[in-house]
Amino acid sequence: MLPTPPDEALVAGRWRRGGGAPARSVDPATGRCLATVHAVTPEEVAAAAEAGAQAAADPRWRDLLPHQRARLLHRVAALIEEDAEHLAALQTADTGKALTETRALVASAAGTFRYTAAALETAEDALTPSRGEYLTMSVHEPIGVVGAINPWNSPAASDAQKLAPALAAGNAVLLKPAEWTPLVSLALGRIVTRALEERGLPTALLAVLPGPGRVVGDAIVRDPHVGKVAFTGGTATGRALARTAAEKLMPVSLELGGKSPTIVLADADVEQALAGVMFGVFSSTGQSCVAGSRLFVARPLYDDFVGALAERAGTLRVGPGTAPGTQVAPLVHPAHRDRVAAYVGLAREEGARVLCGGAAPEGPEYEGGAYYLPTVLDGLPHDSRACQEEIFGPVLVALPFDDEEDLVRRANDTVYGLACGIWTRDHRAAWRIARRIDAGTVWINTYKQFSVSTPFGGTKASGLGREKGRDGIRAYQRQKSLYWGTATTPLPWAG
Ligand code: NAD
Repeated sequence: MLPTPPDEALVAGRWRRGGGAPARSVDPATGRCLATVHAVTPEEVAAAAEAGAQAAADPRWRDLLPHQRARLLHRVAALIEEDAEHLAALQTADTGKALTETRALVASAAGTFRYTAAALETAEDALTPSRGEYLTMSVHEPIGVVGAINPWNSPAASDAQKLAPALAAGNAVLLKPAEWTPLVSLALGRIVTRALEERGLPTALLAVLPGPGRVVGDAIVRDPHVGKVAFTGGTATGRALARTAAEKLMPVSLELGGKSPTIVLADADVEQALAGVMFGVFSSTGQSCVAGSRLFVARPLYDDFVGALAERAGTLRVGPGTAPGTQVAPLVHPAHRDRVAAYVGLAREEGARVLCGGAAPEGPEYEGGAYYLPTVLDGLPHDSRACQEEIFGPVLVALPFDDEEDLVRRANDTVYGLACGIWTRDHRAAWRIARRIDAGTVWINTYKQFSVSTPFGGTKASGLGREKGRDGIRAYQRQKSLYWGTATTPLPWAG
């Protein structure tokens, strides 16, 4: 039984109902309303930013030593772990995702707080070589207030990926969840508030501000107190946000969309590749920025491999995220399911053969749910919209290739550059191709595996900047250079 979901916003250190329009958070497996969450208003964003700026400058926070801030992060991790089952159930209810996945995402959120705490304790400022009679140093300082704007697909993990380093860096954070899925961020907000209160720290160090992107997100980006925005979401939104930020000359980090290639060379371990390709595109029901949605298979293998893939994709268990064994859960929202279906309709018009799926599943158990079957398409030209645009659903486009040059050219022939998978036993070929692919992450004989210590981000229209890794904290700090005179001889103009 799911405990009552949180429905209040966290503004200027206080939990309260937002002053804006109500929005229903709906379970995509059933259409049942989970909670009604009121958006905050632009005035409430301004109040949160103002209180955040004061909290960031409060000596109780500002003067904490890194290992003391690290203790706060460890406490947040422990509270997430204590509440893990509830957070996973909440995320499954709000996003539709399978429980197996949301449990892993919650565990990774706790892991991100712990890793970041450890990275914070071992981060060092540098003494830099100097030629004159002075000591030169490069030190890192908090930005003050930062905005963290997230999409709906993996709230627990994406929230932790921004909150942990931004707090570690000494900032206050304004977190904006996506309209469809605010509940996990609100629950995480409760956890962070509790950890702050236990330590006597200002609760305004975190605000959780639900509401529409064009109103609440935009107000965060424009607020004069906000000195950086970390954004994860669609490329068009990221571009618009970066334009606004440019007016303020404010740094942004952008984790955006993808249309990632998965490549199966002729010598691949076919069983391993089949499993990996399916997991890469159909897990999370394809609602993953790194979904391996363009499949390139060496021509001699193509018919057998794609045939076997379509057959197996047709046997994946489609069902509610709460059912044990579910492999393909509902999409996040009926409107998103309709968008995915429209893309498959478009692909048909563009000449695609639908090898499996291509429709919503039928049966009383799927009624009211935003389900769509795993779908494999082929026969499309590479410049078709279904090959080039991010569908963000369980839809794979298969393409044969003849030689490495042709493969690399087409794999890179997209506006995106987020990820790539290569399946082969030939380590030299894997290395050559991996180095020529224009993407932020390349997986070889595996796919969609993540480590918090490994930086993540995109190239081209997939984004700017990197999250995670030891340097993840630095992305939320400003660098300052200090020159400390040690002159024993008079300065040039000394009398
Ligand atoms: P979206 O761009 O529509 O929304 C993302 C967030 O931005 C939401 O919170 C939204 O309310 C907010 N927003 C919308 N307009 C805004 C504006 N004008 N100013 C400020 N904020 C605004 O994306 P989505 O549909 O929620 O998520 C799906 C997209 O996210 C996909 O393109 C996916 O690839 C991408 N994504 C990328 C990564 C990554 O790490 N690269 C991870 C997950 C999802």
